[in-house]
Amino acid sequence: MELVMKVDDISRCYQCGTCTGDCPVAWVNREFNPRRIVLNLQTNGHNFENEAVWLCAMCFKCLRCPRDVKPVEVFSNLRKIAIAEGVNNLGTKLVKAFVEVVRENGRLVETKFMMKFMGLDSLKMLPPSVAFKMWKVGKVSLSAKKFECAEEVKKIFEVCENA
Ligand code: SF4
Ligand code: SF4
Repeated sequence: MELVMKVDDISRCYQCGTCTGDCPVAWVNREFNPRRIVLNLQTNGHNFENEAVWLCAMCFKCLRCPRDVKPVEVFSNLRKIAIAEGVNNLGTKLVKAFVEVVRENGRLVETKFMMKFMGLDSLKMLPPSVAFKMWKVGKVSLSAKKFECAEEVKKIFEVCENA
């Protein structure tokens, strides 16, 4: 797949850091720094070993960029390329698990998603007290009913795949 990412846009970045200052993910996770990711792309090109782009929450808070680079679009394009090229990393596995569960059930079923994504390791992430609270509000159930529009959702998938 051709690189959809707009290379010209990336080269416009002059490292002011506005995107990082506005980014809610960067506020809570110092590993994620949109300015640094763009710098890395400028100097080293795209590298799927680096999974930082998958931490972006796609919240579109980084649109104040004075150079109109729009990091969110750059990261979104990099994700699309990774999926199209069959890259097998945590980010692509997460997206595949999410899509499969929505296709099968017509909606996200959190437990099925976690089992598909992480297998039995997902149990380690859910302390019993939290699992109980989630079960009480209907968030944890392996026998979750299919969404009533599940068949329509399946058809939407088919139409998109054959488009
Ligand atoms: S706001 Fe724009 S110019 Fe500034 S660091 Fe981020 S991408 Fe670069
Ligand atoms: S879209 Fe991504 S990079 Fe931009 S502010 Fe939101 S989390 Fe940060």
